[in-house]
Amino acid sequence: MTAAPTIERVTVSTYRFPAPHPESDGTLTWDATTAVAAEVHAGNVEGLGWTYSGTAAAAVIVDNLTPAIRGRDTFDIEGAWSAMHRACRNLGTKGLVMQAISAVDIALWDLKARLLAVPVTTLFGQVRDRVPIYGSGGFTSSTDTEIAQDVAAWRAAGCRSMKIKIGKAFGSDVEWDVRRAALLREIAGPDIELMVDANGAYTCGQAKRVGEELADLGLRWFEEPVSSDDKAGLADLRGAVTADVAAGEYISDTYDAQALAPVVSCLQLDATRCGGYTGFLRGCAIAAAHNLDVSGHCAPSLHAPVAAAVPRVRHVEWFTDHVRLEPLLVDGAPTVSGGTLEVTSRRPGHGMTLAAGAADYRL
Ligand SMILES: [Mg+2]
Repeated sequence: MTAAPTIERVTVSTYRFPAPHPESDGTLTWDATTAVAAEVHAGNVEGLGWTYSGTAAAAVIVDNLTPAIRGRDTFDIEGAWSAMHRACRNLGTKGLVMQAISAVDIALWDLKARLLAVPVTTLFGQVRDRVPIYGSGGFTSSTDTEIAQDVAAWRAAGCRSMKIKIGKAFGSDVEWDVRRAALLREIAGPDIELMVDANGAYTCGQAKRVGEELADLGLRWFEEPVSSDDKAGLADLRGAVTADVAAGEYISDTYDAQALAPVVSCLQLDATRCGGYTGFLRGCAIAAAHNLDVSGHCAPSLHAPVAAAVPRVRHVEWFTDHVRLEPLLVDGAPTVSGGTLEVTSRRPGHGMTLAAGAADYRL
């Protein structure tokens, strides 16, 4: 076997996709989503990865990650991952830094597969051709009409599970939250799996009372009922409510996954935050050791190929903002039908490249 080519350079580009109007969940309001894309080059081949982060993540890729991996073997992704992690010791290796590492790690997997002329799923292994999704959006800033529009879009995509935001204004209007969940049940119908996300807005006592009320609606999934930092609170909730308690979207590494796994009913992982495909697969191993399913957080296009490789992935989040912007950012995003993302493409890598039109959104 000939030697693998070496990593020559990384190009970084940042894009800002405005929301139609400001959007809120229980604890945050935003008016745009920023995507930071990394392309890793070896010869005339390049691999693409991206993360949803801030412009500072682009600086980390340029200043810290690129020097750490330039000249390394393109096939040694674990080695490159470790080199990036070591290079950022003094910056801190979680949060924004790990989002930057995630973008490059995904690009490295894509590059390796393209160099071998195989789909990235061939490198991971593939246990399924279709990855289940759930509809997600339903902001606390949305009108009732907009909730109905969300449900219609999710129904059209074939979603059997649907999730909205509650915990409005840091959990200060619990009656509104319960009414909103009841509205979702009314619009979506009795057969849909009902899911809510409080984004850490509640105290533990509040969350228990909301969980009890929503049990009457058949609530199946209660995400971040309290802050993900409150491990004791999550453990308390998991023992108290009938819905599955879910958290994990802020996991950066195996230590974070190990800390959350014992206190949730389903572990969420975000490949754009937890160390790319390398970190996602590590997190899945930790979940499996705790007898837990995994759910992919946001970034549905990027999660589809890696979710196809993991036996206990329950679903991937079909999140309104990302569903809107991913086809603007890239060509080749996987298609949705029957409540699933199709992972049957034989294109090399993950099959996605930056769209020419993305230039309109570039910062
Ligand atoms: Mg969430």
